[in-house]
Amino acid sequence: MSENEKNNDLINNTDTKQESHQDEYEDICYICRRPESVAGKMVKIPNNICICHDCMQKTFDGMNASGFGMNDMMNMGGMPNIGMINLSDMQGFMPNNQKLKKKKPKEEKKPVLDIKSIPAPHKIKAKLDDYVVGQDYAKKVISVAVYNHYKRVATDTMDDIEIEKSNMLMIGPTGCGKTYLVKTLARLLDVPLAITDATSLTEAGYIGDDIESVVSKLLAAADNDVEKAEHGIIFIDEIDKIAKKKNTNQRDVSGESVQQGMLKLLEGAEVEVPVGASSKNAMVPMTMVNTKNILFICGGAFPGLEEIIKERLNKEASIGFKADLKDKYDKEENLINQVTVEDIKKFGMIPEFIGRLPIIFTLDALTEDMLVRILAEPKNAIIKQYQKLLALDEVKLDFEDAALHAIAKKAKEKKVGARALRAIIEEFMLDIMYEIPKDDNIGSVLITEDYIEKKGGPVIMMRGCPELEQKA
Ligand code: ADP
Repeated sequence: MSENEKNNDLINNTDTKQESHQDEYEDICYICRRPESVAGKMVKIPNNICICHDCMQKTFDGMNASGFGMNDMMNMGGMPNIGMINLSDMQGFMPNNQKLKKKKPKEEKKPVLDIKSIPAPHKIKAKLDDYVVGQDYAKKVISVAVYNHYKRVATDTMDDIEIEKSNMLMIGPTGCGKTYLVKTLARLLDVPLAITDATSLTEAGYIGDDIESVVSKLLAAADNDVEKAEHGIIFIDEIDKIAKKKNTNQRDVSGESVQQGMLKLLEGAEVEVPVGASSKNAMVPMTMVNTKNILFICGGAFPGLEEIIKERLNKEASIGFKADLKDKYDKEENLINQVTVEDIKKFGMIPEFIGRLPIIFTLDALTEDMLVRILAEPKNAIIKQYQKLLALDEVKLDFEDAALHAIAKKAKEKKVGARALRAIIEEFMLDIMYEIPKDDNIGSVLITEDYIEKKGGPVIMMRGCPELEQKA
């Protein structure tokens, strides 16, 4: 077989492989980029190129208008003033991530979420408890909100009483588990989740991501399945960064305008989003997604909000008979729990925006004890992960309680919540993970407080050591 034939063979093989996957995706018109579900059946021409009937017709009409009929086409030699598309130059192949999945036939369609299969709030919370430490209030609120939301989705409308959408706003310091809570929830409910950062969003037409790109991300997370995406969750982090800019005369393209632009998404609207890309352009196919049943959860640390709350409380306390000491609230912890809609408005969120996030709740800053629990308790706790890794080498790994507290203390000093834990633990576990596999006789390792404080080493015991057997 010549080199050329081999190459052709290879191309044919990949073609058939692609074709077998192509069945799952809608064809897209090469000229107008509309998918099959919108433009109707396509005419297929070689090189995997599909053209819809409308575009085909327009091409012929165009030719007729310029004085060429079908017969002329057949004899096309050199036609004056007409530029023909050279089909062999076209690359018909389009990556699957830019195509829409075909809708399943109607008769097979089952509701994505059945009312009966939506777990009750206490069950959702119990599942969250397995992964998320503390934050009981937040877990409770989110469980009820999600339960109501999916009940609303499943029933669509209830008589004349339409249940309001349960979009949420969660406020809490960095690293306290906002994203983690939402991620865990989406995984438990098995719904697609898109996580975006509000900082990158700008009003359409300016540098940055369009607001609608968040929906496009969700579509990608749902594997380009519009129906699945329409029941998903969109988490917008750092929402405080789109607060109205203070004292500015310029157009606030990344603040107030973004809030304005998000209003219709939050409420529920049909939006046209690009498939497989974050921005619209001529080469990207588009589809319509309805955001009516998409649950929006916004999160942010809202730095400075406590000052606003304190100011309000002080003002209230200084009026009339209730007059109180001015610095009464200075030392109060978790002042953030007393937040009101007014405070958030004062922070710079526009009333229409907050109005569309009816469920507002706060998460607590993590205490040292909570950090210790995060190290050891969740199903996939960091410590459990290390224990499992060493157990594969038949080595038992233990941590002294004091050692866990020492790690938590160090993490707390960094003021980035639980995020610091992994970095700290990785730093001193490196030596252990490097040295232990060297010696097959090692049976167990105990991480001590001294080791964390860099004052001593871990306690290592050999296999067959009587002490170890006693412990086991
Ligand atoms: P943020 O509140 O800034 O969104 P994250 O949710 O991203 O913080 O938290 C960072 C990491 O810290 C998570 O991936 C998770 O492993 C851990 N974490 C934070 N809070 C908790 C918690 N309450 N329970 C268990 N793990 C947590």
